[in-house]
Amino acid sequence: MNTDKTSVVVVPCSGIGKPFGTVSREAAYELCDELRPGSTRLVALAKLVLGDAEARELLARHPAVTIDGCKQMCASKMVQQSGGTVAHEVAVLDVFRRHKDLKPEGIAELNEAGLKLARVLAEEVAESLAGGEQPEKGANHV
Ligand code: SF4
Repeated sequence: MNTDKTSVVVVPCSGIGKPFGTVSREAAYELCDELRPGSTRLVALAKLVLGDAEARELLARHPAVTIDGCKQMCASKMVQQSGGTVAHEVAVLDVFRRHKDLKPEGIAELNEAGLKLARVLAEEVAESLAGGEQPEKGANHV
């Protein structure tokens, strides 16, 4: 019996050193840990860069939502280079343009506005995913 309820793989950019990149990672955690824990799998960009077999297999089986912190679109590009399909491409800057009051600052630790921006972004993606689900927290990170 197939018990894998994953519907999408979520890949945030690594975004180290940039507040918008940190927002992308926070949003991915929010989405995968809090809002849609039962139907999402978070795959770290680094795993794809390293060619991790489990990460690549997940991408082969499920569409991906990518969340990128700048126009370099590292997550989106890496998913495609890894043979995956990007079903939904989110740019943190686009979400920020609609929520100019939520300016992210800080890198290791985001300010409150940045955390809120991540939450808003995660909620938008969660709503775009089909159907609700029972919370089912688990080790859904790769
Ligand atoms: S998309 Fe931009 S912020 Fe994210 S890892 Fe790439 S260069 Fe950094």
